Amino acid sequence: MQKLNNSNYKIKPFSQVTDFHGHICPGSAIGYKAAEIAIKELFSKKSFDEELICITENDSCAVDAIQVVTGCTFGKSNLIFHDYGKQAYTFINRETGDAVRLSMKESFSTDNINPNLGKLRQKVNSGTATNENEAELRETINKVSEGIINLPDNEIFDVQYMKVELPAKTRIFKSVKCSKCGEMVSDHRKRLHKENILCMPCFNKIKEN
Ligand SMILES: [Zn+2]
Ligand SMILES: [Zn+2]
Repeated sequence: MQKLNNSNYKIKPFSQVTDFHGHICPGSAIGYKAAEIAIKELFSKKSFDEELICITENDSCAVDAIQVVTGCTFGKSNLIFHDYGKQAYTFINRETGDAVRLSMKESFSTDNINPNLGKLRQKVNSGTATNENEAELRETINKVSEGIINLPDNEIFDVQYMKVELPAKTRIFKSVKCSKCGEMVSDHRKRLHKENILCMPCFNKIKEN
């Protein structure tokens, strides 16, 4: 597998993630690390965002970082969401089929970076915090996030190398009309009920009744 020569590609700074995501947090820092590992492991040249596919197994703050840094987005159909509630991300190089699955280590915990974070959060969430506590929480979150960015990759994720069958490229489907609500729906998302074309919401309503 070819690895990126770091002088070829400058990974976007974390500040761009924060601009997009709206706040600094450990979750977006974790996503930033995942994206950085994916680019380092899978790419050897400058432009890659059309070639990369990400399958995320959660919809946490981390996924915003992945979108900014890797260019994998829902709109480009190269970000695929599996609602498994796992801190795991698979990245695939569409050209080569090389892939890595990153799964968070059981041993990883923000407590290892700063044990006060959990306590401060609890205090602020319970409503008993002073203004000082709140400021301290904000500062601790920033420090922990920065700490995550500076951690060695192997302290956050287990990395599994794979070769995968490539998902088909985005195709453009024609639209058809739902016989119940009259709205247009992509052909590959239509449902059939007694030979009538239905959109998914209308189909689901019929099934519930
Ligand atoms: Zn966040
Ligand atoms: Zn309908």
